[in-house]
Amino acid sequence: MTEKYRKILHMDLDAFFCAVEELKNPNLKDKPFAVGGSPTGRGVIASCSYAARKRGVHSAMPTVQALRLCPNLILVSSRHREYSQKSKSVMQILADITPLMEQISVDEAFLDVSDLPEESVEIARNLQKRIDLETGLPASFGVASNMLVAKIANDFGKKLKGGDSYPRAIQVVNPGQEADFLKPLPVEMLWGVGPKTASRLKVNGVKTIGELARLSDEFLKIHFGNNGQFLKNNALGIDTRPVENYDEMKSISQEMTFDQDISDVDIVIREIRKISEKLGFRLRKNKLMAYTIKVKIRYSNFKTLSRQTTLQKAIDQDSIIFDHAQQLFLNHWDQNFSIRLIGVGVSQFLEGEKQLSLWDTQEEKESKLLKIVDSIKSKYGNDVINKGSSLKKGNG
Ligand SMILES: [Mg+2]
Repeated sequence: MTEKYRKILHMDLDAFFCAVEELKNPNLKDKPFAVGGSPTGRGVIASCSYAARKRGVHSAMPTVQALRLCPNLILVSSRHREYSQKSKSVMQILADITPLMEQISVDEAFLDVSDLPEESVEIARNLQKRIDLETGLPASFGVASNMLVAKIANDFGKKLKGGDSYPRAIQVVNPGQEADFLKPLPVEMLWGVGPKTASRLKVNGVKTIGELARLSDEFLKIHFGNNGQFLKNNALGIDTRPVENYDEMKSISQEMTFDQDISDVDIVIREIRKISEKLGFRLRKNKLMAYTIKVKIRYSNFKTLSRQTTLQKAIDQDSIIFDHAQQLFLNHWDQNFSIRLIGVGVSQFLEGEKQLSLWDTQEEKESKLLKIVDSIKSKYGNDVINKGSSLKKGNG
């Protein structure tokens, strides 16, 4: 077996809150300004422009101190709703190209793009362009074979750019170069090295990651216990953690990879119906109702896209899942490409038994019917499920 490297991206928006403010007020461009609390009281800086950073201002600094360092600092009060909307738009762009997206903060995420055919640096460049085009926000990327190195590469790339404006950096560390890349960097740039560990290392003459990597196992064991080996692995640029999509875990989904690429819409829709019925069954079995329905389409060229819709009311009925999933698919399907994989998912759950109303709407009738069908399914297994539902639905 040939060794296969993972392709991991770390995305970090540049001075995120400030960038959003600048979209609103272009006069702020290249000026020292900051989003933060008032200098009276105990306000702190939440985000500051690169021009302000050059004058020593940084986030989490008390506003009073920031103004002392930079008297002409322009203070802008924060608008969190706006930031979170922008953040969602950016994360949606990332999720569009792969479901293997792990958001770690409002403006940072990891992507595992190993499955995509393009070079990772090209993917980063395209994403950077798309984020800029669709949201107006500057983003930087670290590109490496694991999360640890991708994140540090990004931090490094941003620092390297400097300047009064947004770095928009893309920093690549090629597979095999991880340890060499990390070697000259200060130990503080490693995960798991807080101020305490850093000062302990410094006392022992260790300032760079390379020096840390050279320490003996015994020395590490004595000074850092079980954490020692972890530190050493990190210093060597070894990190095997998978990119995990936590949102995905809070959802129920199922996908189907076709034996051959499909361009016949009916076949895909038949599959969407099958999956929708299975999802409905699982929702009801777990007494869950979902607000959001999602479809994922992967084309023959591996380009992957997911689209979702959120309903006013939580649902657990097969037909509603199917209707929306089908609609999403038809609205977003690019007919120039044949389809390799189709997936449907539901998320944003409302838990607990639903209330029965006095009047049976069409939906409630279906709910009751489905309850009976489900009890049969549970008893007799999956073969009956499909027969049952196709009988119920007829050929229509
Ligand atoms: Mg950022």
